[in-house]
Amino acid sequence: MSELSGQCLCGAVTFTVAGDINRVSACYCGQCRAQNGGGAFHGAEFQGELTLTQSEALKWYASSKKARRGFCTECGSSLFWQSNANPAYFDVSLGAFPNEEFELDAHIFVDNKANYQSPPKNAPHFIESTSPLSQETL
Ligand SMILES: [Zn+2]
Ligand SMILES: [Zn+2]
Repeated sequence: MSELSGQCLCGAVTFTVAGDINRVSACYCGQCRAQNGGGAFHGAEFQGELTLTQSEALKWYASSKKARRGFCTECGSSLFWQSNANPAYFDVSLGAFPNEEFELDAHIFVDNKANYQSPPKNAPHFIESTSPLSQETL
């Protein structure tokens, strides 16, 4: 159980998360790449509760029928990935926690990486995902 406070780059979106971090992952799927500057999305996969404390600038984009992605309309920070079917499962960008340290547990969707991406060997590689927080529901 952990409780963390996070924010976007400009500070217009602030939030707290409470719950368990099931896994810290880097996702190499095409959607994450498109939304995150051509790179992997590094996120903490939470099971718990996301509480928005300042959210006027937050916009949710329905990236598929199964999930939505939250970002700041002021600064463009990519912040959240959230399952529609089970909103208690959500990923939060590690970039939203500038004062926290994380260790990566997994590189996921490495089968979808771009040819310029080379996931390091600092964590296991997965085809798609093996977690219940899987983004296989993209
Ligand atoms: Zn912002
Ligand atoms: Zn992804």
